[in-house]
Amino acid sequence: METLLNYSLEEIENLIAKQNEPKFRAEQIYNGLYLGKSFNEITTISQNLKIYLQQNFTSQPLSIIDTKISKDGTIKFIFKLLDNNVIESVLMKYEYGYSICVSSQVGCNMRCKFCASGLDGLVRNLSSGEILAQIILANKFLDGKLGEKRKITNIVIMGSGEPLDNYDNVTKFLKLVSHPKGFNISERNISLSTCGLVDKIYKLADDGFKVTLTISLHATNDQTRKSFMPIARRYTIKDILSACEYYYLKTKRRVVFEYTLIKDVNDSLNEGNIIKNLFKRYNMSYHFNIIVLNENSGISGLKSTGREFARKFVNNLNKNGISATVRRTMGQDIEGACGMLRKRFLENESDYRNDEE
Ligand code: SAH
Repeated sequence: METLLNYSLEEIENLIAKQNEPKFRAEQIYNGLYLGKSFNEITTISQNLKIYLQQNFTSQPLSIIDTKISKDGTIKFIFKLLDNNVIESVLMKYEYGYSICVSSQVGCNMRCKFCASGLDGLVRNLSSGEILAQIILANKFLDGKLGEKRKITNIVIMGSGEPLDNYDNVTKFLKLVSHPKGFNISERNISLSTCGLVDKIYKLADDGFKVTLTISLHATNDQTRKSFMPIARRYTIKDILSACEYYYLKTKRRVVFEYTLIKDVNDSLNEGNIIKNLFKRYNMSYHFNIIVLNENSGISGLKSTGREFARKFVNNLNKNGISATVRRTMGQDIEGACGMLRKRFLENESDYRNDEE
């Protein structure tokens, strides 16, 4: 059965109208669901309506099966889906509020060498409601409400999965989560991270989305990129940069490039100069986020350059006039860090298996 969280408020209103129920009931159901309630817990609706909903939809498609709290306050949620698959989200506290890193798929098809999410390949796409439910449950955990009273202020779609490989559900999710009567999280506070599915970047721009586009670039030449990212065989770096320029010109949103440093692979201090020369052909504002490789996430044997070197690398970029910073690492002690999602589950799968199975 489908979750009603896949439906927008307007779509719920249409459903309700067909049941000859007054329109305002839709908003009661919607508010209840967004606060993490089941149909049963929404006490304002009639018994008949409840039965109709229960027979046709599920309410909450996720349940929290575990939380891990890091020394730095980062919280990792482990959620079970109704089909017993398991996904994770990571909640990080910043001065301005909470940012949540959500998953868009169970597993991933991209198979980047350093990343844990794709070790098992793609299991399935998450529906828009299943992506949204990660925010609903984290917000409830923090005792947040809706609108101005929500606790979560920022979203990064950077957990397990390749969001543009699940385009329809991810973009529906963007509409749901930015709806003024729900969480009302503006697209400017949402980052979408992709390994660079070029045709979908053009589509995202043409469909009018304005999220912060974040590209997992990790290399400035195709040969190096191909050595650890299979997707580089399909799209060249130039294809990606042209698509980013198009996105920038449509949205005027600065594009962020992620660059995970891998020892002796992409860590030359010439990169500042190379990036400067490569990017000057493109008309866009951009920023580089330099990531320290998390060695423990894959089976790759790729080595980290360490944090000290990452700072040097950033200095070199800055000297070349490139805006760049080292990405903060949060939640490492709870395996909430980059590329770690799903690993613990794969290793300890039996911990999360349903007893009834
Ligand atoms: N598929 C999307 C989003 C998921 S990965 C993408 O490719 O962007 C989110 C970010 O974490 C990407 O930049 C990815 O390259 C990075 N990442 C994955 N594994 C990592 C690891 N072991 N160490 C550091 N960064 C990693």
